Amino acid sequence: KIRVRYAPSPTGHLHIGNARTALFNWLFARHYKGEFVIRIEDTDQARNIADGEKSQLDNLAWLGLDWDESPANPGEYGPYRQSERMDIYKPLIQELLDRGLAYKSYKTSEELEAEREAQIAAKQAPHYVYEYAGMSDDEIAAAQAEAEAKGLQPVVRFRVPEDKPYAWDDIVKGHVEINSNTIGGDWVIQKADGMPTYNFAVVVDDHMMEISHVLRGDDHVSNTPKQLMIYEAFGWEAPIFGHMTLIINAETGKKLSKRDESILQFIEQYRELGYLPEAMLNFIVLLGWSPVGEKEIFNKNQLVKMFDEARLSKSPAKFDNKKLEWVNNQWIKTADQNMVFDKLMQQLVKSELVNPAELTAEKMQWLRSVMNVYMDGVSYTSQIVPLVKPVFFEMPAADAITDSAKEWMAAENVPAMLNLFIEKIEAMPLFTAAAILTAIREIQNEMDVKARALWNPLRIATTREEQGPNLGELLELLGREQTIANIREFL
Ligand code: GLU
Repeated sequence: KIRVRYAPSPTGHLHIGNARTALFNWLFARHYKGEFVIRIEDTDQARNIADGEKSQLDNLAWLGLDWDESPANPGEYGPYRQSERMDIYKPLIQELLDRGLAYKSYKTSEELEAEREAQIAAKQAPHYVYEYAGMSDDEIAAAQAEAEAKGLQPVVRFRVPEDKPYAWDDIVKGHVEINSNTIGGDWVIQKADGMPTYNFAVVVDDHMMEISHVLRGDDHVSNTPKQLMIYEAFGWEAPIFGHMTLIINAETGKKLSKRDESILQFIEQYRELGYLPEAMLNFIVLLGWSPVGEKEIFNKNQLVKMFDEARLSKSPAKFDNKKLEWVNNQWIKTADQNMVFDKLMQQLVKSELVNPAELTAEKMQWLRSVMNVYMDGVSYTSQIVPLVKPVFFEMPAADAITDSAKEWMAAENVPAMLNLFIEKIEAMPLFTAAAILTAIREIQNEMDVKARALWNPLRIATTREEQGPNLGELLELLGREQTIANIREFL
């Protein structure tokens, strides 16, 4: 049976890298009709944040993922939070102690630090030094009793076998082999506060929860030999591992780190900017995975059908903001337009351009048309705000225009053009885009001016901008009175 899991630590919000891990596990489960489990790895109590678990799950759900088991809908493998599984870990740690595969260690952090410094000074890779070497069982027991008497809290360390290869066939990386001598020596399986460490608990949980495949980030490769040691110690079969490639910033070529401020890294931030969940999911799936063929826009169901773990890439995935905007723009264009307008409206309300209490059906229809005119320039929905704000909500004063706009307006024939335009506007039976465009063409003929020398001043006088969407459509939406008022301000 295929069972995979996403195992977030509630130490932060849903990061792009975590979302990708969750997505690939979810796709794997859904493609093979397996089960997708959420397990909360909350043993690092000092680092957990209050709404970490909730925020992780909310954002996964927003992306469109669902799961078969979790703390809120447990299956038969619970509990699904590590902090609630202490009764399971404790006897297993005791078993390793009893079998001599682990031991209690009382070294203080000062001693450990001194050891480390000496090793670095001697140009050795830092590693743990077993403190009971050559001692009899009685001597060990006496040393430990003495430490206890001093009130020292022990950690439990796993006794790492010497010079032993740990190998696995990785779904992404192929055959990987790591020698036990390179992992830094006996590692901690239980901290001084009694909590198991990640590398211990993850093995117990994956085994007990019958996880068949573990897909996770590349940063866990160095943990895998430690985990294999625990599987070996208990005689359990290890799951199949797949370590997904790093994500790098396409611009700098550097590994995406939480400190990199040039890229927004939390799903929540994209949500707030008005990215569509379908687009985010679509973009994330292309980070380290590629479909067959050229097409890149896919929905969830298509991805489930076509997912193939053999196409997970070995080379780093490039996070490219431009690509993300492109993907979102593709989705905005093809998505249900009512849904898109709802989201655009939310942005206008959020930025207080629109007061929902004052919305009539007519005003709503007008807003839809306004937003429609600007849609081509919108990659994510909050971009609508700076586009519509100056023209339709807070028109800048006539003298608050750019220098190059001022230059256009300084031409000698501008007042005559503007006056003629007003005359024609006033004479129009219906103030429509078509009528406006016809009027502008008439002026061009009557005054014999070059196109730009006419269009630019008209656009600047009416909208204060040098560029924008179709001027006829814009002015029709602005309305006859407002258009004339805007021009008068210039004259
Ligand atoms: N809690 C671990 C993390 O957030 C999970 C790693 C794993 O999938 O084994 O990185």
